[in-house]
Amino acid sequence: GITPFNFPVMVPLWMLPMAIACGNCFILKPSERDPSASLLLADLLKQAGLPDGVLSVVHGDKEVVDAILEHKGIQAVSFVGSTPIAEYIYHTGVTNGKRVQALGGAKNHAVIMPDCDLDKTVDALMGAAYGSAGERCMAISVAVAVGGIGDKLIETMAPRVRALKIGPGTDSSAEMGPLVTKVHLDKVTGYIDAGVAEGAKLVVDGRGLKLQGYENGNFIGGTLFDNVTPEMKIYKEEIFGPVLSVVRADDFTSAIKLVNEHEFGNGTSIFTRDGDSARAYMHQVQAGMVGINVPIPVPMAYHSFGGWKRSLFGDHHMHGPEGVRFFTKYKAVTSRWPAGIRAGADFVMPTLA
Ligand code: NAD
Repeated sequence: GITPFNFPVMVPLWMLPMAIACGNCFILKPSERDPSASLLLADLLKQAGLPDGVLSVVHGDKEVVDAILEHKGIQAVSFVGSTPIAEYIYHTGVTNGKRVQALGGAKNHAVIMPDCDLDKTVDALMGAAYGSAGERCMAISVAVAVGGIGDKLIETMAPRVRALKIGPGTDSSAEMGPLVTKVHLDKVTGYIDAGVAEGAKLVVDGRGLKLQGYENGNFIGGTLFDNVTPEMKIYKEEIFGPVLSVVRADDFTSAIKLVNEHEFGNGTSIFTRDGDSARAYMHQVQAGMVGINVPIPVPMAYHSFGGWKRSLFGDHHMHGPEGVRFFTKYKAVTSRWPAGIRAGADFVMPTLA
């Protein structure tokens, strides 16, 4: 299992309990950016009586990953991270004869229908776009405002985004913490620069935020763009920061077309009071996880988790029934107990007892 920085406990726990319960030993290669959570997890499992060798934790980056992908003793690789690395893991692992599930990046759209409950929708969008500073593969990063609701949506959201309470992770009242590294802060800031340069309307600008006492921290404020269009870099690429892009669409049909034409298809949501729109969206949308008035539609663990299109390489989603499929192999046994009263060779397939 090769895991990303943003969920250092949850993502390993999508994999290792299923792998072990299905009878495998499991090697965890956590993100080099937050490696200690994996050791806490391993320690807890050891205290719970897990025999030595059933779970191993190996630290490192590409060098270790490549050794895993080439190792003859490893039969399957479960990966979660960004799309370019997911694609690399999938191709290299499969070329080396391994079963691979590789979950990648996302650009999750929420379709905001004109008949939605706007206050509740804005509450949902605030958490979905800015929770965990947008560093979630299920974060909503695009809001598609349908049929003229865009102005009201922006008007209601902008003051809420400006008022976001940003603070260190140790402050339990903070709604948003810092980004993971300075490199990532520069990347997110660069996307905001690119959005402005490409002509999107920057309604709330989170760049350059300095927190007193944490001047060297990787903090950035919530950012809200309006009039974003599909050709823009900020629309096409995953930003993985607290940046929400509002795109305007004339009607339901053009909104769903936008979502379906995007290269990623992890999660998506629709906000509406109309059952017919919700039902049509659920059936027609090209994404692995769909929410109806639910902003982050992460399924409960006994279902499976995974995206479509370039958000997942391989055939299996994580955990739930798909996890059991991934970590097990089918075996078909055909048996006969001849009593010795019939002799001679059979030249046909044995269909009779
Ligand atoms: P990442 O792709 O940089 O790293 C993921 C893992 O790959 C790490 O263990 C890392 O050590 C390893 N890795 C990095 N570069 C490598 C290389 N060149 N060769 C081999 N291995 C390499 O991802 P990240 O920044 O840690 O996590 C954020 C990304 O993960 C985002 O794109 C996010 O959408 C995605 N993510 C997806 C899901 C999902 O369920 N689809 C869940 C969480 C995060």
